[in-house]
Amino acid sequence: MTFLFDLPPNPALAVLGEEARFPVGRIFCVGRNYAAHAAEMGNEVDREAPFYFMKSAQAVIGTGESVPYPLGTSDLHHEMELVVAIGASGVHIPRENALDHVFGYGAGLDMTRRDLQAAAKEKRRPWDTAKNFAASAVLAPLCPAASFGSLADRRITLSVNGETRQDASLSEMVWSVPEVISHLSTLYHLQPGDLIMTGTPAGVGPVVAGDWIEGQIDGLPPVSLHIAP
Ligand code: MN
Repeated sequence: MTFLFDLPPNPALAVLGEEARFPVGRIFCVGRNYAAHAAEMGNEVDREAPFYFMKSAQAVIGTGESVPYPLGTSDLHHEMELVVAIGASGVHIPRENALDHVFGYGAGLDMTRRDLQAAAKEKRRPWDTAKNFAASAVLAPLCPAASFGSLADRRITLSVNGETRQDASLSEMVWSVPEVISHLSTLYHLQPGDLIMTGTPAGVGPVVAGDWIEGQIDGLPPVSLHIAP
C-alpha cells in the first residue's frame, strides 16, 4: 500500500526496566478531580460523575524537551497529573477489578491554553483548542504497576524555575483511579495503549518563554518541559 504523504509516527513511552515501549492510543483526561483546584477555577466538584476531555496522540512529547511557546495563547498554564496507562482491555469494569487493567503509571503535564479555555467556558463551547494542541501532553517514562505498588498518599508536586507551585497528595483525588477506570469503561471500551490523565491539584498558573517546569510524583520518573526563549 502506498500513501499520499508520510503518516506521523505514533508516540510510544519508555518503560522502566523494559526494552519494549508502550504505544500511545487514546488520551482521556479527567476534569476537576481535586477539590482545591476546582475551587481555584471558580467551580464546585460534581460528585455525580467524573467528566472527560481528550487529547490526540499527536499532542504527546517526551520529558525534557524544549518547545516554543504555543500558538494562539497568551496564558499557557501548567497542570501536573498522574497518568494511568491501560494494559488490558475492558468494558463495564467493576471498581474492585479496575487496577487489574492498569499497565503502569507515569507523570504528565496537561499543558493548557487557559485563555482559550475561559473563552470556551463562557460561550459553553468545547475545550479542544484549549487542551489539545502541539506538545500539550508531556509524558515521562512509565513505571510498571507491579513495581510501583500502592497509589495511596503519594505526593505530587510541580515547580517552575525551582519554585514550588503545586504540592498535594494523590489521596486528594475526588475520583480515585479505580473509580475513574470503572466509570470511563461505561463510556468507552478501554484498550491497551489508552492513557488517563487523572486531573491536577491546586496551584496551576502561567508559564512564560524561558521557564523550566518540573513535576514529580513519589516513586515515578519526573516530567519536565522547557519553554524556549
Ligand atoms: Mn488537567
